[in-house]
Amino acid sequence: MLVTSEGDGCGDRDTTEVELTQAQRESSTSLRSAGVRNEANAPVRTCVGCRRRGLAADLLRVVAQKAEDEQPAAVVPDPQRRLPGRGAWLHPVAACLSTAVRRRAFGRALRVSGNLDISALEHYVENRHEHS
Ligand SMILES: [Zn+2]
Repeated sequence: MLVTSEGDGCGDRDTTEVELTQAQRESSTSLRSAGVRNEANAPVRTCVGCRRRGLAADLLRVVAQKAEDEQPAAVVPDPQRRLPGRGAWLHPVAACLSTAVRRRAFGRALRVSGNLDISALEHYVENRHEHS
């Protein structure tokens, strides 16, 4: 019994050390390449409308969806934060949305030039406002 438990303990410890080292290596690599992996430590984002910083949980992520050449790109809400591409952050309220539109902040933040179709975003903010 004594021998068995000692053997298990050693095996567990070895495995844990290897996994830890790999995890650390992976997290530092993705931190450098993506630059967005800090969420756990500092979940703070800047709203493109009012330019105030807020908790990421309070802000809505939006992304640009590029369309055909003739059509404007669309700014769409990404409440699940899963859409690929460059994102911007916005308080999901009409005031911040209109401020961002007036400043053309979406184009700057999302690196999209030309007209932007924000109807999907407007719809999202309006519906959200009605609920709360
Ligand atoms: Zn705001």
